[in-house]
Amino acid sequence: MDAMLSLSHVSFSYHTLDGETLALHDVSFSVGFGEFAAIVGPSGCGKSTLLSLICGLIRPESGEIKLGGGQTDGSSAGIGYMLQRDHLFEWRTVYDNVLLGLEIQKKLTPENRSRVERMLETYGLSAFAKRKPSALSGGMKQRAALIRTLALDPELLLLDEPFSALDYQTRLEVADDIGMIIRREGKTAVLVTHDLSEAISMADRVIVLSKRPGHVKSIIPISFPAAYDTPLKKRNAEEFSHYFNLIWKELKQYG
Ligand code: ADP
Ligand code: MG
Repeated sequence: MDAMLSLSHVSFSYHTLDGETLALHDVSFSVGFGEFAAIVGPSGCGKSTLLSLICGLIRPESGEIKLGGGQTDGSSAGIGYMLQRDHLFEWRTVYDNVLLGLEIQKKLTPENRSRVERMLETYGLSAFAKRKPSALSGGMKQRAALIRTLALDPELLLLDEPFSALDYQTRLEVADDIGMIIRREGKTAVLVTHDLSEAISMADRVIVLSKRPGHVKSIIPISFPAAYDTPLKKRNAEEFSHYFNLIWKELKQYG
């Protein structure tokens, strides 16, 4: 399989006045084109560090990270990054918020504008385009943040615990929403979460990291019968508890 993203033997340490913290140790995995991968691991095990390495904000101490497709030149132009909080600006309208990335990158062409307008329409935000973000529900804000990220047409989407600021019920709905949008737009995605259920219900593959220094403990392919086609439905499938127990055990083992 041709990989969109591959990491081989990646290690990284933070150096501070207090000394050195080994965050990741010998991490290897790859993600195929159009695949949705989830990375789970205990808090502090290096998940956010891993995403910073993938998008080139920091460089591995050893090992190698490759972006596939030949379109990327090692810069992060082809990568979209979505964070825990939506970071929408209250002084801009929803419309101006979703265009922000394009504006910064000076790519506000008529084609890009109409693509974004189409996404606002498709994903139920047109009626709110002229409003301020505070008029949106938590779920709608995350949808707007995702559209802003997709506006730049990234090849690879990185999602760092994007639902953790939401209450439980909204979280389930938004995970459904966001998962559907990412698949419809045909993107490759890497979702980082400490929520097992979220990982199992959204991803094609779950990569389990150990506690710090994070290394890959196991990689578990996830598949559900075709009828279970949304994250919410998957949570009710028989397979769900099987995967849950399997990954739970992996996480609980020390080392
Ligand atoms: P996670 O996202 O899995 O919770 P992080 O990648 O944020 O974990 O952090 C991994 C480890 O690296 C933690 O022990 C954290 O304290 C440490 N760390 C993260 N960022 C920094 C930094 N900028 N300087 C020093 N240590 C850091
Ligand atoms: Mg984190």
